[in-house]
Amino acid sequence: MFNKVYFSVVVFLFGLVVGSFDNVAIYRIPEGKSLWAPRSFCPKCGTTIAWYDNIPMVSYLLLRGRCRHCSESISWRYPLVELVSGLLFLAVFAKVDFQWTAEFLPYLFMVTVLIIVSAIDLQRQIIPNKVMYPSIVVALAAMGIVSLVRGDYHIVVDSLIGFAVIAIPWALLALVFPRGFGMGDAKLAAFTGTILGWRSELVGFFIGIALGAVIGVILMAAGKKGRKSRIPFGPFLAAGALIALFWGQTIWDAYLGLF
Ligand SMILES: [Zn+2]
Repeated sequence: MFNKVYFSVVVFLFGLVVGSFDNVAIYRIPEGKSLWAPRSFCPKCGTTIAWYDNIPMVSYLLLRGRCRHCSESISWRYPLVELVSGLLFLAVFAKVDFQWTAEFLPYLFMVTVLIIVSAIDLQRQIIPNKVMYPSIVVALAAMGIVSLVRGDYHIVVDSLIGFAVIAIPWALLALVFPRGFGMGDAKLAAFTGTILGWRSELVGFFIGIALGAVIGVILMAAGKKGRKSRIPFGPFLAAGALIALFWGQTIWDAYLGLF
């Protein structure tokens, strides 16, 4: 019991720190800037942010959301991304029953990539290849390792089918209807499918589509989006994949139970 609580706190704090890295990635990757240098600085006054002003969540609260030097307000998105990352890391730890299983790191990796890609897609309507290609390679390698550790080749077969099951039809649609279907979404589906396996990938995909349709209709009804304006689809695919990560197998079994 003590270990469970203790390690949960450690995992949550690790999630906050990774969330802080996510913020750097979200801001710098689309601009083609290096992730590692220079150190973070205030976009208004250019002052390098000291380590004690760069503690996830804590610094934002202590500084009351303002730069120490020029008082420019810091976007609430930074602490939000950190908190979401911390909470999702904790949820993943619960998902693997608070054990150090082989799937733990691949799941944390998936959560991290989904946060970064969703935020970039929301802000800029792109899903960068620079994120997706290496992430897909890492996902395939990771699931290969999980398969070896578990001594079960079904896992890697499941991952390979998961890689293709949505991504390939979606990529074909994107070739035929480039305006309606994004190639970035196909790559995202290849990534989540690799980690989730094909059943959960299907569950997540259809939940993502349903969420996108519902929110799209609401935005159109509210007059925020026209019929033709593009609504970024990546965040919905990501939300579907997260739901599938936590409840995919349960939903799949319930669905099959209907017949
Ligand atoms: Zn400043």
